[in-house]
Amino acid sequence: MLARILAVGDELLLGRTPDTNSAHIARWLTDRGFHVDRTVVVGDPQRDIEAALKAATHGAALVLITGGLGPTDDDRTRQALAAVMGVKLSERPAAWARIRRWYRTNLPTRPIPEINRRQALAPRDAELLVNDRGTAPGLSARVGRCRVACMPGVPHEMMAMLARLDRPLKRWFPRLRRPAIGEVWIAGVGESAAQELIGDLLTEQHPQVGITVSEKGHITLRVVGTASEVKDRTRALRHALAPYLLPADGPAASLVTLLAKDGRTIAAAESCTCGQVVAQLGAIAGASAVLRESLVAYHEGVKRARLGVTPALLRRRGVVSEAVAAAMALGMRRYARADLAIATTGVAGPGGGSPATPVGTVCMAVADRSGVAVKTIRVRGSRERVQARAAAQALVLAFEVACGRLGTRPSDLI
Ligand code: AMP
Ligand code: MG
Repeated sequence: MLARILAVGDELLLGRTPDTNSAHIARWLTDRGFHVDRTVVVGDPQRDIEAALKAATHGAALVLITGGLGPTDDDRTRQALAAVMGVKLSERPAAWARIRRWYRTNLPTRPIPEINRRQALAPRDAELLVNDRGTAPGLSARVGRCRVACMPGVPHEMMAMLARLDRPLKRWFPRLRRPAIGEVWIAGVGESAAQELIGDLLTEQHPQVGITVSEKGHITLRVVGTASEVKDRTRALRHALAPYLLPADGPAASLVTLLAKDGRTIAAAESCTCGQVVAQLGAIAGASAVLRESLVAYHEGVKRARLGVTPALLRRRGVVSEAVAAAMALGMRRYARADLAIATTGVAGPGGGSPATPVGTVCMAVADRSGVAVKTIRVRGSRERVQARAAAQALVLAFEVACGRLGTRPSDLI
C-alpha cells in the first residue's frame, strides 16, 4: 500500500523550521505496513498545495498532510482540499462549538477570536478528526480512490492526532497488516566495519535490512519482513555483531538500562561538551535511578578546585590531554560519590587549536573503581558537530566500561 506525506508551510521551505513532522509520520506509516515512496514539502500558496495534493493522490492509497490548518490567511490547506475535491467549504456547528469550548477551558480570560471560526470550515463529505491539543480539527476525505487526512502543523498537536488515527485507519484499510520489525543497535564500530562483519545479511528485499548511522553515536539495523524472517535475520545480525551490541536504542539509553539493572550510579565532569553528556542521560526515562551529578568544569580553576586536577599536570600535559581527562574523571567520581564518572576536555573551535591539539581534538575518560579508561577523538566540522560527537563518543566509552567490554586501570598518566 502506497502512502505519501505532504508537509505544508513556507517556514519549512525557508529552512526556518526543520520538517520533523514528516519524519514522524513516515515512521508511523511504515510501522503500520505502508510503503512511503514520497514526502513533499510545499509552501503556503493554495495553488501550490492543490497541485502537490493532486499529484500525491495519484496512485497512492493514503496521503497524510501536515500544516496549514491554522486560523490565519496563510493557512490554506482546507481550501486546497475542498478545491481538489471539487466541493464547497461549509461551517460545521459541532466543530465551532468545540473550538469555543477549547478557548473557555484553556484561555478563559481571552475573548474568542472570530477568525478561529474558519477552523470550523470543512469540505462537504469530509470527516472531522479530533484535536485534543488545540483548536484546529483535522480533516479526512476521499480524493478519487485515495484517502486524504489533514493534520495541524504544530508537532505535539499533529502527534496526538496521529495517535488517534489507528482506529479510522482500520476502517479505511481493513486488509492492512502490520509488518514485523526488528532492530539491532550497535556502537563502537564504524558503518563500513559493521558491513564487513555482517557480509550479505544486509538486503533490500525479504527481509529488508537497512542501516542508519545516528548522530547520537550508534548504528541501527532495522529488519522488516514476516515474523519468522525478522526473527532469524535479527538473530544472525546479533551473532555477527556481538562485541558491539547495545541493549537499548543508543548509548545513553543503554547506559541507563545497564546501570539501573545493577544499581550503579554515574556522574559527569564536562568541559568542551558543556553538559551535553548529562543532558543525553537526563533525557532517558528512569535516569533518576542512576544519575547523581554533573559539573560543567569549563575554567581551569574549576578543574583544579573542584576536581583536584593539579596545576603541574595542567602545565605539563596541557588542558586538552588524556591525562587531564583521566584526572577529571577520577576527581568527579570521588566528588560525586558515583560508581562511574565521565569526563571530557577538548577544543570545540573554531578558534583555540594548536599544532599539537588541533580544533576538534577531544580527550575523554571514564573512571570506575578499578581506575580509568581514556580515549582521544578528532572531529572535523563545526563547533556544534564537535560537541555532539564528543558527547556521543563519551557515552559509548562509558557504556563499554560499564558492561566490562573495556577494562580500566589505575592511571599512570597523572
Ligand atoms: P501551521 O499549523 O501550518 O500553522 O503550523 C504551525 C507551526 O507548527 C509552524 O509555525 C511550525 O513552527 C510548526 N510546524 C509546521 N509544520 C511543521 C513540520 N512539518 N514539522 C515541524 N514543525 C512544523
Ligand atoms: Mg502554516
